[in-house]
Amino acid sequence: MSIASEGFAAVSPAGLVTLLSAPAQVLLDVSHDDVVGADYTRLRASELIEAIGSRLASPSDETTSVCFAFEGRVLHCRIAGIGAQAAHGVAIVVRDDTLLLTQRERSEAVLAGAGDGFVVFTTACEVSYVNPAAIELLGDRATAAVGTKTTLSELLGIENAPLLGEPGAACMTEVTITDPAHRILEVRTSPVIDPAGRDLGCVSTMHDVTAEREAAIMKNEFVSMVSHELRTPLTSIKGYVDLIVDGDAGEINETQREFLEIVQENSDRLVALINDMLDISRIESGRVHLRIEPLEVGDIIQGVADTFRTYAAQSGVDLSQSVPRSLPRMAGDRDRVGQVLMNLVSNAVKYSPGGGSVTVEAHKRGGFVAISVTDTGLGISPENLSQLFTKFFRVDSSLTREIGGSGLGLSIVKSVVELMGGTVSVTSQEGEGSTFTFTVPVAPADLVRTPRVEGPLREGTGTVLVVDHDPEIADLIETYLVRRGYTVVKATSGEQARALALEHRPRLITLDVMLDDADGFDLLQELTDDPETADIPVVVLSVVCDEGRSLRLGAADYLEKPIDQGRLLSVVDGLVGAKDSPLVLVADDDRHILDALSRTLRRKGFSVVGAHDGCEALAAVGVRKPDLMLLDLKMPRVDGYQVIQEIKSHDDTKDIPIVVMTAHRIDSKRIDILKLASEHVCKPFSAEELIERIEEVLGGGGTG
Ligand code: ADP
Repeated sequence: MSIASEGFAAVSPAGLVTLLSAPAQVLLDVSHDDVVGADYTRLRASELIEAIGSRLASPSDETTSVCFAFEGRVLHCRIAGIGAQAAHGVAIVVRDDTLLLTQRERSEAVLAGAGDGFVVFTTACEVSYVNPAAIELLGDRATAAVGTKTTLSELLGIENAPLLGEPGAACMTEVTITDPAHRILEVRTSPVIDPAGRDLGCVSTMHDVTAEREAAIMKNEFVSMVSHELRTPLTSIKGYVDLIVDGDAGEINETQREFLEIVQENSDRLVALINDMLDISRIESGRVHLRIEPLEVGDIIQGVADTFRTYAAQSGVDLSQSVPRSLPRMAGDRDRVGQVLMNLVSNAVKYSPGGGSVTVEAHKRGGFVAISVTDTGLGISPENLSQLFTKFFRVDSSLTREIGGSGLGLSIVKSVVELMGGTVSVTSQEGEGSTFTFTVPVAPADLVRTPRVEGPLREGTGTVLVVDHDPEIADLIETYLVRRGYTVVKATSGEQARALALEHRPRLITLDVMLDDADGFDLLQELTDDPETADIPVVVLSVVCDEGRSLRLGAADYLEKPIDQGRLLSVVDGLVGAKDSPLVLVADDDRHILDALSRTLRRKGFSVVGAHDGCEALAAVGVRKPDLMLLDLKMPRVDGYQVIQEIKSHDDTKDIPIVVMTAHRIDSKRIDILKLASEHVCKPFSAEELIERIEEVLGGGGTG
């Protein structure tokens, strides 16, 4: 085959070949002498003869093309008129496309053989090619789209798919299509640029991930189901062992106590493991409900340090903390930040078998608060460091085997921190110790916490309706509540629950959402809709993570099984007590004062809602109007003067009596505002003095 690739020929209006370039002679396999000056039909290629004939028969200004196989080559001929309306005959450019076509066929064979779908778009958003895999995934739509202007959304059969790169933009996203069949596709769109930098359009690839995603969902559902099935019996095991150890079933001797404590410890371990597995399956399936609020870093660190103080001391570990006073608040979920920190501190103590020190520090890093936990324990080798945050990964050494654990903690830490918008990292020196650091975004100024009402600290009184389909668990909850002083009525079905709620008008209902004859959520909805029962607080108890749904349907709180006795009692006490005792709102930015005041007030039978600044105080008033406000004047964001002004300027809140507490000189320019308050106490004051004032104000109905 010769190297000739493009030739030229001309034919007169009478049909005589007037010119035939050397390459054209090679491509059309004719000699100059045979053809030039002779009729064009002497050319041997029949397709070309036919095309020239029709152009001579109907002269025009158009250029036409014809492509055909000839003598082992693929020839492409363009025929154009010479002069207006081909007055001087036609010119033919003949090109050898053999190589081009072979390459194209090869590329198409590669694309056709690829398992992923390919759709090629031109710069004008026309579909120029779809491979068989794309046709298999998208059906007739894909075939019909070739040669037409089509968007990726139209091609996928999805309306307004978010984040879907249209031709021209590079992006990757996951979409679910239902036509021609249900499929989950990972779609990646990338621009096509030739080596000279010219934009040739773009290509979208579609990778079918249906099987992988469905397997992951099934795995999560399986873990979820198994965990739930385990949780129900564990609720009984743990609950009843706790009762026996606490002496509720009579005296036990030392040996019995020792054995039961082993059962207790192991059931706790099992509960922790199941909780971790459930947590992972929830995180992986996106069923995590976060309550993001501004959090005081120092409070959380203090809480975790208090929890671990005894454990650390028993392990010979010195636990200390260092938090600068000026640290901004972070935007996170209180329980989840606590969970992350507890995991890290627990590991730090656990992996310091020879004692040593564990330090928790916090500092601001850009738009984040970074909390780090440093230990002087075993440390981690560089090769293990990279795998630490992987599920079930544990460093394989005799020491870690002895220490025990599931290898789930750090993978939960990573997922939870990332869910809150932060990151987690670790540095470590084997044999020297490790530092784990996680970050949480700084809370924006307009993120306001709505503080919760806490009921008085006193023994329970009144009737609680316990609804649970499992009589053993109902008995267990009854035991906890009766010990506290409540009277309990129990229902195991929805119908019975409805009847007992109307008959007894309980102070509170605990409701398991799994009932034999009804869906607990329907019952919850009925109870909150019915004016007869609407004001009875309902606490949902469930083995399934239904917090979001429960709270949306009007549950007052949500507790997960296995039930923790302390949590249950504090929630029940809080809700029952909070309902009928006078509510005092305490607003003070000094945490120690706030804590001490809240405790004293609750001991005296008041319900308390504690606010750290004026914003929180106003948010709390919006949720439930307090019977009295104890207000510090100097507070960040919104100060006490502004709170008084705001409260006194609205008809529905202006009658709330306000007792101002201040240690500072009063701002003389704002003295008029202060006159709107009912009372004024100067710090320091004694608790007795304060309670006396409060009782006076409440007794007198307040001024305002
Ligand atoms: P677990 O502690 O239950 O095994 P984690 O996911 O919390 O699971 O930790 C994974 C592994 O990382 C641990 O098994 C341990 O080998 C290692 N590790 C975690 N924290 C530390 C630490 N502070 N010091 C040394 N090794 C650690």
